[in-house]
Amino acid sequence: MNTKEYEAKGEIRKFYENKPISLLTKHKKEKIIAPILAEAIGCHVTLVLGYDTDQLGTFTREIQRIDNQIDTARKKARIGMDLLGLSLGMASEGSFGPDPFTGLMPWNRELIVLIDDDMETEIIGQAQGPGNQQHLLTSDWHEAVKFATRVGFPDQYLIVRPENDNNPKIHKDINEWPKFKSIFFSVASVFATGQVFIETDGRAHGNPERRKMIAKATEDLVNNMGSFCPACGIPGFSMVQRLPGLPCMHCGRPTRIIYAELWLCKKCGEHEKREFSEEERADPMYCDFCNP
Ligand SMILES: [Zn+2]
Ligand SMILES: [Zn+2]
Repeated sequence: MNTKEYEAKGEIRKFYENKPISLLTKHKKEKIIAPILAEAIGCHVTLVLGYDTDQLGTFTREIQRIDNQIDTARKKARIGMDLLGLSLGMASEGSFGPDPFTGLMPWNRELIVLIDDDMETEIIGQAQGPGNQQHLLTSDWHEAVKFATRVGFPDQYLIVRPENDNNPKIHKDINEWPKFKSIFFSVASVFATGQVFIETDGRAHGNPERRKMIAKATEDLVNNMGSFCPACGIPGFSMVQRLPGLPCMHCGRPTRIIYAELWLCKKCGEHEKREFSEEERADPMYCDFCNP
């Protein structure tokens, strides 16, 4: 382990050790988040139970805009803080959809927000990558078995309904073969076509890939908590934007390739543009002028 990491952890502990932080969550996400935080910063995570977070937005098959996703997480964190009367609160929010590059791969983005009223700031952790979100419409049990095996059932839970993806007769928490088989055949008998819509469960407790992504987002949050503002010294000095415009190798005009990151302290507004490398140039294939 490198010494820098040790020092950073020591610094974070000064700010957060033994402080209670509320975590408003469903679907057992606390089992992923709380141990990572406790280990890295020594805080106590207090769960807010009995609040139905689904009121704040239903799960969709579209990737949300990042601003909406952050807003939902903020609202959840604030509700948890109010219910427990704490000055620190946390919540996570996930989203599934097609990947932002080709639109062909299932994609998962996880966010975790920490609101800190003591230091009047907010710190965000993020992770994104390929996610397990797949579906199949079939009347054939053998096809259903192939699909289930491919997506990692039964560790990966399934959701089943008749006919199409909007049918309200939904069966959730399917996590063993005999249960899957009996539900499949009873659902297949609902309509004459015998079609069954099967999909991977996106909720954290039924989606192992998503749990890994939530853990990564929590680690990113911990890293950002360990990054201190060069001006005011509080935690959370972190990257808020990637700036495109790396000059083209051929013509020197700005391209869509990222050339710098914008880092910001949300409390005092201190910011810093971190450029990757002065000599670096973009391949002309990314230049709108050389390769329109
Ligand atoms: Zn600052
Ligand atoms: Zn060019």
